[in-house]
Amino acid sequence: MSVTIRFCGAARTVTGACYLLQTPSGRLLVDCGLFQGSKTLKALNYGEFPFRPADIETVLLTHAHIDHSGLLPKLVRGGFHGRIMATRGTIDLCSYLLPDAGNIQESEVMTLNRRNSARGRAEVTPIYTQADAIASLNAFRPIDYETWFEVIKGVRARYWNAGHLLGSASIELEFAGQGKSGQPLRLLVSGDVGPDAKLLQPDPQAPTGLDYVISESTYGDVDRPPTTPQARREHLAAEVRDAFAAKGAMIIPAFAVERTQELIADLVDLMERGQVPAATIFLDSPLAIRATEVFRQHASSLGGDIDLNRLLSSPHLRFTESVDESKSIEKLSGFHIIIAASGMCDAGRIRHHLKHWLWRDNATVLLVGFQAQGTLGRFLADGVKAVRIQGDVIKVAARIRRIDDYSGHADGPELARWIAARRPIHRGVFLVHGEEAALSGLSDRIAERTIPEAHIFRPVLDDIYELTTAAPTPIDVKQRRRLKPEVVVALDWHNDMSKLILDINDHIDAAADDRAREVIIRRLKRALDAQN
Ligand SMILES: [Zn+2]
Repeated sequence: MSVTIRFCGAARTVTGACYLLQTPSGRLLVDCGLFQGSKTLKALNYGEFPFRPADIETVLLTHAHIDHSGLLPKLVRGGFHGRIMATRGTIDLCSYLLPDAGNIQESEVMTLNRRNSARGRAEVTPIYTQADAIASLNAFRPIDYETWFEVIKGVRARYWNAGHLLGSASIELEFAGQGKSGQPLRLLVSGDVGPDAKLLQPDPQAPTGLDYVISESTYGDVDRPPTTPQARREHLAAEVRDAFAAKGAMIIPAFAVERTQELIADLVDLMERGQVPAATIFLDSPLAIRATEVFRQHASSLGGDIDLNRLLSSPHLRFTESVDESKSIEKLSGFHIIIAASGMCDAGRIRHHLKHWLWRDNATVLLVGFQAQGTLGRFLADGVKAVRIQGDVIKVAARIRRIDDYSGHADGPELARWIAARRPIHRGVFLVHGEEAALSGLSDRIAERTIPEAHIFRPVLDDIYELTTAAPTPIDVKQRRRLKPEVVVALDWHNDMSKLILDINDHIDAAADDRAREVIIRRLKRALDAQN
């Protein structure tokens, strides 16, 4: 009897983290995340899991982010009866994040169905509802950091503070008698690993001496200049002063949890010290408002030397809970700050603020987090001249700015150091949770220097490996793949399509006159006809 792992998500992609471990005494999952980004990936959320939910005994959850937790309600709805083990911080955050995700599924499907019925297409049902999400919260059980507990017979686990987010963990697993000569087999799943010098988190912690390490790679190809809380605040101050000088709104698409609270703490602090002009900071996200409450409750265990509770209660901060309050922000002109979700601009209230401000050259959009391929945030980061929001083409005249100092993720050198600090690693390192460039960037950093190149693996979605052998052994899964490996690896065609449509608009706009426009259209038609 052996132990196998199936990479059910975050394999050659950044989202949908989910790893199935099959042991002689049962099956368990580490994470059960939602796929985000391209349409091909998102479609996986609607399909069946590559396992029967009722067969899973326990889920070990690394942290509350939706790309790690977002399919748990679907798992429970699909027949999972076991426990979901998580830290208290993670449970508190999930109690808001998951119902919010359910609400988003319901409203997205409602919009889609309205469009589908107009085109005579069949109705779609949501992946899960808000009620499913609330029901799934009953399965959560709290556990403490650095304390062993039995997961299922013959398997024990211990959580380590990953320094990425309130409650985030790397998970150490031991499979009794499955290692070399009857020793336990030891495995570590990184979850998402935080950077050094993060405002509200310690540096990541984890054990040494393992058979396998499964490591995230989000920023594996990025080498950020080292930062400190002080340097980060000065960086932000410079951006705020420039946005103030431009005399329009400063829009910050932010992840509702932690990034938002860090930004608010720094913005309020800068205003109180007079280093930036005082202005109203609108927190325009019911979810971020809830999350801010959770951070106030956990303030004593976070924040090191800042008074987080006081900063998050500042009079500069305005919570706009209702849709009416949110819409009334639109009436404002001049400098003010709007923080709204989602961080990658692919959903949420941020989209209507962008629609309202993107075409104005006095506005500033400040990107503060990772932007996955296929998201509106990525298009903006890549410098496109126009974007499509709710069907309308909007020209981008606003100043698009970016600061990476607020990242919740370790960069390439930090990840490589994190892996090196886990040595000895006897059998292999699996690199997951990254786009192609990030995976190869991280692989290059650790190959030979840290671990023999032959011991580094970059699994594709749905790959299965046996772990009990002296080196991981791939198991043939041809028949059971949800997507062809080349589809997972290739840039999604929907991205190219969106870019092409925007390019066409751009060319037609820029043409000298209507005659020139007709010529472009005729040539495009001819090129299409030549395909038939
Ligand atoms: Zn995360």
